Amino acid sequence: MGGVGGLLATGFYPEETDGKGIWQWAEPRCSIELPSGCTAASLRVSSLLTLATGRTLKVRIAGAGGRPLGEKILDGPPECLVVTSAEGGRVEIASAPAWSPCEIFENNADQRRLGFCLHGIDLLEANASRRSFSRLADYLGPGWLPVESDGASDWAWMGASAILVVPEGVRALAISVASPHVEKTSQQLEITATAAGGAVVARRLLGGPVESFVIRCEGEPFVTLVASRTWSPSEIYGGDDNRKLSVCLHSVFGMQTSSTFAPLSFEVELTTRCNINPPCVQCYPRQGPKDTEGRTDGEYIPPGLDMPRPLFDKIFPTMQKARVLSLHGVGEPLLTPLLRESLEKTDPSLTYRQFNSNGLLLNQRNCEFLIAARTQYCNVSLDAASEEMFRAVRGEGWPIIIRNLKHFSEMKHQMQVSHPLIAINMTLMKVNYREAPAFIELAREIGVDRVIFSKLEPADDYFMERKGLLFRYSDQYIDISDTSFRDTLKEAFRLGAEYGIETIAIVPNIFG
Ligand code: SF4
Repeated sequence: MGGVGGLLATGFYPEETDGKGIWQWAEPRCSIELPSGCTAASLRVSSLLTLATGRTLKVRIAGAGGRPLGEKILDGPPECLVVTSAEGGRVEIASAPAWSPCEIFENNADQRRLGFCLHGIDLLEANASRRSFSRLADYLGPGWLPVESDGASDWAWMGASAILVVPEGVRALAISVASPHVEKTSQQLEITATAAGGAVVARRLLGGPVESFVIRCEGEPFVTLVASRTWSPSEIYGGDDNRKLSVCLHSVFGMQTSSTFAPLSFEVELTTRCNINPPCVQCYPRQGPKDTEGRTDGEYIPPGLDMPRPLFDKIFPTMQKARVLSLHGVGEPLLTPLLRESLEKTDPSLTYRQFNSNGLLLNQRNCEFLIAARTQYCNVSLDAASEEMFRAVRGEGWPIIIRNLKHFSEMKHQMQVSHPLIAINMTLMKVNYREAPAFIELAREIGVDRVIFSKLEPADDYFMERKGLLFRYSDQYIDISDTSFRDTLKEAFRLGAEYGIETIAIVPNIFG
């Protein structure tokens, strides 16, 4: 995340990385500096506190002189925190409660006081004629009450529905709204934004105080906001103001992503072809048609395609500028020449390039290329520590993949290079999790750098029969509070520590 270093004014700990992503912890009070010409930034933030304990993390944003700009409750996974400031310059962010990893995780000595976790910042510029575009009235179509002002700031009340006009060239609107009704009564109020064709482009449950959110509106002449309820000041404060109101609009910024700012992370699926046919049992995107009971044919060979050349050419300039470039999706990246091209034409000193593979094509020629191209990271999915389990879950090819991985590790050793970092991955399911400790033994035997345990992602259910295994997707989810599962994974981590193999579980709250 070095590209954002200059924006982090105060209160951020140094960058950390696990090879897959980069993040920085924010202290409970921190600030960022919006560069000149930039009036908004979208921060990708998450709250480990919430993921681990369920306690929410409240974030308050303030501009110069402490003027409140917004507030947001973080509920765990990465989401966007939009900060807008008409003045540009420094934006203060305070999060509460402060917490330390040592308070939450067993055997953790980390006593730093933390707030949210920052995964990246996208800077957003106001449109070139931002002065006129940042005036509230320029955006207000039917449905808004006349703009009010106390001299210091302007606002407009919305009724049950209202139109926001989208100026030419604007790709997104960052709006700040407040709902005094929610604050006073705790009743819920939701705002839905729809494009001219009826598609929902944003939806937001409001908490009361000023908060900001982004409405995507590229190519749209206007968006329609609809409130789930209206209220009258007279109902709450007494008096005779019987207007039907919903939210109070404080600011609107029309934004374009500036071409001068590079994405911090870019993930691109270069092919959907795969050389494991029929697909792995848990590969839900590549399964064949289902019958009415959800049975899918385990023999089905799904078609796949490489990314069309014109599309690749169109996005390549953006790929080249990314800080982290992930060259994978559902298919096998080593099947497409676009992987080679991407690695050859991107600069390893600027971009961290990584991909997932099934390992079947990690032959001598490809390994030589990956090392010569200074590829940083290759993660091979095995999902099994034994050939028997591999055949049931993924199919044929175990001896080839194990030989390839051993050879790849030896090549690196002989050439005295540390790249690419090689990981093996196990998607934990009921059928295979007992092999987790043996998976660490396997990693040690073949000499890889890292082991990753991930979990089965929720998907539409299906079932099939494969090599004596009746595999129903929904039966394979793991209950992470299950004692047998936790003990098994703890044993795997113990072995990883004993052998000096970096072991990562992408399973929230696993040892909490
Ligand atoms: S190797 Fe990957 S893309 Fe191919 S079938 Fe298995 S999970 Fe799906």
